Order: sequence, then structure tokens, then C-alpha cells
Amino acid sequence: MPAVRSTCCYCGVGCGVVIETAADRITAVKGDPDHPANFGRLCTKGSTLHLTASPEGRALYPELRRARGEPRERTTWNHALDFAAERFAAIIREHGPDAVAFYISGQLLTEDYYVFNKLAKGLVGTNNVDTNSRLCMSSAVAGYKATLGADSVPTCYEDIDHAVCILIAGSNTAYAHPVLFRRIEDARAKNPDLRLIVIDPRATDTASLADLHLPVLPGTDVALFNAMLHVLVWDGLVDQQFIRAHTTGFDVLKEAVREYTPQAASDICGVPAEDIVLAARWFGSSNASLSLYCQGLNQSTHGTDSNATLINLHLATGHIGKPGAGPFSLTGQPNAMGGREVGGMANLLSAHRNLADAGHRAEVARLWGIDTVPDKPGKTAVELFDAVAKGEVKAIWISCTNPAHSMPDAARVREALKKAELVVVQEAYRHTDTTAFADVLLPASSWGEKEGTVTNSERRISRVRKAVPAPGEARPDWEAATAFARRLEERLRSGRPTLFPYRSPEDVFNEHRETTRGRDLDITGLSYGLLESRGPQQWPFPEGAESGKPRLFEDGEFPTPDGRARFAIAGYRPPAEKTDARYPLRLNTGRLRDHWHGMSRSGQVPQLFDHGGEPAAYLHPEDMLRRGVKNGDFVRISSRRGSLTLAAAESIEVRPGHVFVPMHWNSQFLKGHGPNALTISAYDPVSKQPELKHAAVRLEKADLPWRMVAMATGSSAARREALQPLLEQFDFASCVPFGRERDAVLFRAASREPAAAELLARIDHILGLDDESETIRYLDSRRNISKSVRIHGEALVAVRLCGETAACDWLKDTMAGAVSLGDLRRWVLAPMARPPAGFAPQGRVVCNCLNVSEHAIRQALDGGADLSALQARLKCGTECGSCLPEIKRMVAARPQAA
Ligand code: SF4
Repeated sequence: MPAVRSTCCYCGVGCGVVIETAADRITAVKGDPDHPANFGRLCTKGSTLHLTASPEGRALYPELRRARGEPRERTTWNHALDFAAERFAAIIREHGPDAVAFYISGQLLTEDYYVFNKLAKGLVGTNNVDTNSRLCMSSAVAGYKATLGADSVPTCYEDIDHAVCILIAGSNTAYAHPVLFRRIEDARAKNPDLRLIVIDPRATDTASLADLHLPVLPGTDVALFNAMLHVLVWDGLVDQQFIRAHTTGFDVLKEAVREYTPQAASDICGVPAEDIVLAARWFGSSNASLSLYCQGLNQSTHGTDSNATLINLHLATGHIGKPGAGPFSLTGQPNAMGGREVGGMANLLSAHRNLADAGHRAEVARLWGIDTVPDKPGKTAVELFDAVAKGEVKAIWISCTNPAHSMPDAARVREALKKAELVVVQEAYRHTDTTAFADVLLPASSWGEKEGTVTNSERRISRVRKAVPAPGEARPDWEAATAFARRLEERLRSGRPTLFPYRSPEDVFNEHRETTRGRDLDITGLSYGLLESRGPQQWPFPEGAESGKPRLFEDGEFPTPDGRARFAIAGYRPPAEKTDARYPLRLNTGRLRDHWHGMSRSGQVPQLFDHGGEPAAYLHPEDMLRRGVKNGDFVRISSRRGSLTLAAAESIEVRPGHVFVPMHWNSQFLKGHGPNALTISAYDPVSKQPELKHAAVRLEKADLPWRMVAMATGSSAARREALQPLLEQFDFASCVPFGRERDAVLFRAASREPAAAELLARIDHILGLDDESETIRYLDSRRNISKSVRIHGEALVAVRLCGETAACDWLKDTMAGAVSLGDLRRWVLAPMARPPAGFAPQGRVVCNCLNVSEHAIRQALDGGADLSALQARLKCGTECGSCLPEIKRMVAARPQAA
């Protein structure tokens, strides 16, 4: 079976994968044992990548909408690109280059990114090129630059093995970077003295492993880090020699943190003062302290300060530039780092150059062979869509991202896209919230179908390789951008040699490589050939070097004019939106374990829904009680910008007064605009990263007495596509796939009034419940209850329950074949919906690799099993390990339950 080595396309850990194929189809994915990011391990997402390699749901052909209001029609690549180039050129001629924009993605490969950046800044002459990485790591970039002088991650994964104290802030690493979390678990197993501090408002799976969990109030990190520094100074735990030799500004900072006593910070952060003191002492007194951080710090109106004040702790204690120590920003997306390297953002230029620096602009202009790079800063993500809404930006090209879902204040972004004169969307999937707005849809090849490179969180550049041909007419993004650029050149600078002479991604890589010469990320010693023969490499890797550098700043020299790192002075500022009597709750958004961002890809895999299930809002039991809300009741959550109806789910992970909603749900799966209907577009003044982690909301119980659940096995992707337009017909509706051996779809709806008969007939038709020869029906008109069940051969293939839906869970299991049809027929004709005797719903699947349910684990625990007995019997947690933190929690909670 042919095997191709490549890289996982989900998160910034950047795990190596081995793709197996047969007859031009991806048949299996395994972890690459030789890849230094994962040494063969994969998480649930990575290990199911082969299940996403299906043409179902993909954009296969270019499509064009000739006039607003009309449907898009299939067209040719030539026609679509000519059309787009003509419209872009006309707008640029009439309104200037800043009337167009490009919004791209941290999921693009470095080569794709490079071409888009040059297209905007080099050819069009606008810096209006920004990326969804603005939503996840621009505060990390700004924090590094403010303190270390450059956007340089000083650490590497191996530092986890050497650390004596690990501080995780604003990151649910167990969910967001699972393979890295396995490494933390291993390090703790090897070194019982390793201390783990977790700072997170939620008691996540990551926090469950902590020696010290600080459940701070959202957005209070600056006060916490300043107070930790206060303690370090007070206790004499700072490294005076390092401070004197390698930093500047400490005396001013020392004065500034004087007022941040542990008690003062405790009042702001909502955690005990003694825990703040303990965290500081552990961090300061260890031989090697490593911090890992992510969106919890970054997605804030003071994200830059949160990053910088955490880095202050490292500089003050000398925990940087040595094994096991340093501030380590974890990148969310697979190639957020690569995007930074090519300068693919509105304020950056190639190879970590700054747009604001005239010398840097001149260097890039020389490298690209153009007269000048424009000096006017481009519009960053929020600014960009605001400019589209105002008509300042008239044409926008969106590649490999889904801003209609992922941007804050989604309604505003959707309005902007409606107003744009031209929206071009280059996308692998035909149906995302954003493709609905596309005038031109260009099918993009995706993971397993394209060549290039990505850089992971530890600066390691890995090859991404093609294993199978792309479906339909899909093309790699770099190639489509190059073809468009050449057409635009004909219209804007005809007769001059092309700026885009690329015939392969390797040509693009080689040009990018040259732009890095002499820069902090110099990769002039790298080539596709070297990456082929020696595997993934870290930057810098200059010409003549034998290897890349695992760790930066080992000599205490920093890339600042005086070679010294700078302490940042920052005071605590509250989140942009205060809670008040009308909006008393705090909304927090984050991840499910088995899903990825907007679920364009992971949403294609039914088994990835076994753990996170259906859309829900998670509330502390006290808040449920206070509002008279029970598990499964519908609640309406409203902010000053919009509202969303969800089922309520009790969770002791959430602080009282908070609501947690997973970020993934969008209009493809749920009525409405998803959680970003509620979030705020206020952003950090330096990094311009929006505050996606905090909004003030209120919550009311939604009185939706009429309930419906409809399910069917088979063709789940096609059925979801047909059901999606019906979501808006109900007060609440969701539509998700499920199942393993047989894929299936579950449509759940609730409304104030019963649904019209025609609407139910449409649903029946989509789910195959209109075949009267195989469908059994029960109707209780007096109580407004109806059941329709279709049995094909010996299998239950479709169900619709109206009015009484309590049987949903066990019927869902039944579709997996757990109940005999004799029992089922009796149930259909019975007035009350009790499951057949002896049947117990399996509940959530905790171990996704080996399909071990919560019910099975609880049964084993009730039988007295401990972790090893549990694993010996059920094998749960013995494959990828993503479920281990949850299983350990269940084991730990067992005596309490008893
Ligand atoms: Fe992919 Fe999981 Fe590795 Fe992230 S941790 S790169 S999602 S396999």
C-alpha cells in the first residue's frame, strides 16, 4: 500500500503523519514515528483524518453568480479567474488599491501565504491582506516583539521534558494541543517533582491535572502576572545577574508592580491570595520554568499586555534561553507561524520585517523587483470587515477561512459580506457559512492533495505532501492565486515581466527562503531536498549550518538595538464589556475535544460527534438552579449584539456566573450564527486581536414546548445539506451527524407551536420516512404525539418523534443495532415511550479511538475497577490518549460518588 509522509492539518503541534492510499483514495492515517513533534502519536482528530478525505461536501468546480440574488452556476477556471481579475482591476482603477482586500488563513501552506502577500502588497499595492491568525495569535506576536524584540518563539517541545515548573495560562492544552499534553503527562510521570500550574477560568481537563489551578476571572491575567512579579521581588526570587546583564527597564517595572499585592490581585482575579503567592514561588524557585499559553491570553483587548507581563516573569527570573525554560506561545492553527514568517498580515512584511519600517519596505521592494511597497498600514481583520460594510473595501478575496462564522459579532460581518460588490471565496468545502456569500467560488485542494511546507509552534518546518489527486477541478491555493495574479498583471502592469513566475510550490519556497537571508528566521540553509532527506527542521537554519536551533537567546542576546530584552509595563484593565443588571453573565468560548474550529473538516466525521454530541451552553449547577433550568432545557442567550438558543448542560467546570459555549457551532449545524452572534468586536489596540473570550450576556429559559427529533442512517452528508436550510424554520434547531459503522444524521428541533404538516413532510422526505411500505406510524392527536419509524430489512433506518422525544438517546443507540426489532415494534405502538427492558443508553463516547462509552466506564468503576483494571478490561485511553484526562477524572470522582 503506497505511503506518503505529511503533516496533520489541524493544530499547531504539527504532528507528522503517514498517509496510506489505495486506488487514489486515502485509506488510513498513522502517526509518523520519525517526526520530532509527535514520534508516532496522533490525537482523535489526527487519527481520523482519512475519514475526512471524501469528495462529499467538497467544492468541486468553480462557480459564478452573475447577479446578486441569482444562484451561482458552474463555470470554468478560466472564466472565473478572468471575471475576478476584470472586476478587481476595474475597482482598483476606479477607487485605488485599498478598495480591494484579501482575507486568508493560518491553515494555508507557507507557499500559498507567500503568493497572497506578494499579490496584495507587491502587485495590487495595498496592505489590505490579513488573516484569521489575527483572531488567534497576533497578541502573542506583539507580546514577543514588545519584550524580546522579535516574533521569535524561544523554546521547543523538548523543553517540556526538562522543565521543573510548567505554567499553562489560557490554554486547554488537553483539547487544543493533545499530543503536546501527552508529552506533559509523560514528563510528570518521569519527574514527580515537576509542578504544573494552570490558569484558566474553567476547570478543564488540563486543569484537572494541575498541582495548582487558578480559576481567574476572565481578562485578569495582567493583574495576576504583576502580582506574581511582586511576590518574586518581595521574596528575592528574581535573577539580579540576568536582569543586570540582559534586560532593561526592571527598576521601573518594580515600582509599577508595587501596588499589585497578592491581596489586591486576589480581589481583581477572584482567586485566593495564597494561591497567587504559591504560583509565584513555584515559578521563581524552580530550576527551569516553562510557560505555555494560547487564546485565553491572546483573545483579549489587552492580549499584548497579558503576553508581555507573562514574559516579564521569565526575564525577571532568567527562565529563558536554557533547557526547560521560556515563554512558549502555542499556535492554534497548523501554519500560523508560516504566515508570520512570510509577513502575511496587514502590518507585517516578508521574513518578520515591519511594514512601518521604511528600510524594511525598501528591502522587500528590492527582493520583489518592484518600485515600492505601500507604507499605509493595511486593515486588520475587524477593521477590514468594517471597511467592507462601509463600502471602502469593495472587493474581497477570502481563502481557506470562514469569517462569517469565526469573526466576532457575526451579524455585522454577514451584513458586510452582503454589501460587498464582489466576494471571491477559495475554499475546499462547498458549504460553509461564508461560501453562501461568494459571487465566485473557487474549489481548493486540501490536505493530502497539495504540496508545500508548514511551521509548527516550535519553529519546525515540515513538508506537506500530496498523496492523492484533488477531487473535481480543485486546485492548490498558491496555484489559483498565481493564475489570478498573472491575469491581474495583464490588466495593471501589462508588458512587464511577471512577478509570479512560479511553476511549483518549491519555486515559491525558494523565493521566500531568499527573503529570510540575514533575518532572525534565516532559512537559507534549507531546501525541499534537505527537508526530504533529513526531515523537519527548526529555524533559524542559515546557509552553511548543520542544523536548526532548538532554543533561542541562549547567549542572553536579544534582537533589540542594545541587545537587551525589555520589561513591559502594563496595568490591569478590565475586559471591554462589563456585566450589569441587564447582561449579568460572562460568556466564554472555547473548544470541544474532538472538533476543529468551524468544523468544515472535522464536521464531516460522524464519530467525532460522539464525545461533544450536540450544541449546548454549559452552566454551573447554581446558575441552573437559580433560573429553574434543567439539563436539556432550552435557553436563550442574548448579548447586546445578538442571541442564540441552545440546550442547557450542567457543568462544574464553569464558574458560577459564567456561560461556556463551544466555538465550533455554526449555521451548518445550528440555527443562527453560532456563538459569535454574541461576541464583541472590541480589540487590543496594539495587536488588533478581538476579545473573543469575553462578552456580557443574559440567559432566559426558552419556553419551547413542541419538540421534534428525527434521525436516519446513510448519506448523512447529503441529508445534512438538504436539512440545513430548514434549521431557520424552528425556534431552535440543530443538525449533526453521528454513528460509526453506519453514518447517520440527527435533526433536533423545538418551537413554541407545532411545526406545519408540510414542513414535517419535507423532513420525512429527506430522511426517507415517506416510504409507506417500510414505515410504521403511531399518532396520538389528543396529546400531539406522533412517531414514525422506518425499518428496512432487519435494520432501523429512520425515526421521527414529535411531541415526546425522550426516546431519542436509546433510539440513537438502536440505530447502532443494540435492540431487537421485535421490541422496537412493540414500542412504536405503545402510548408511553419506555426503552425495551434491559436496555441502557450508552451516553457519550469517552474513548473515541476504541468506542468506549461513558456508561461502560461507569459500570466498570461501579464494579470496583481502578484505572489500570479499567484499561485492561475496556482498553479505553490506550490508543491516542486524548480521553485519558477525562477517564482519570472519572476514576478520581468515584469515591466521592460512592
Ligand atoms: Fe493533529 Fe492532534 Fe497532532 Fe494537533 S495534536 S497536529 S490535531 S494529531
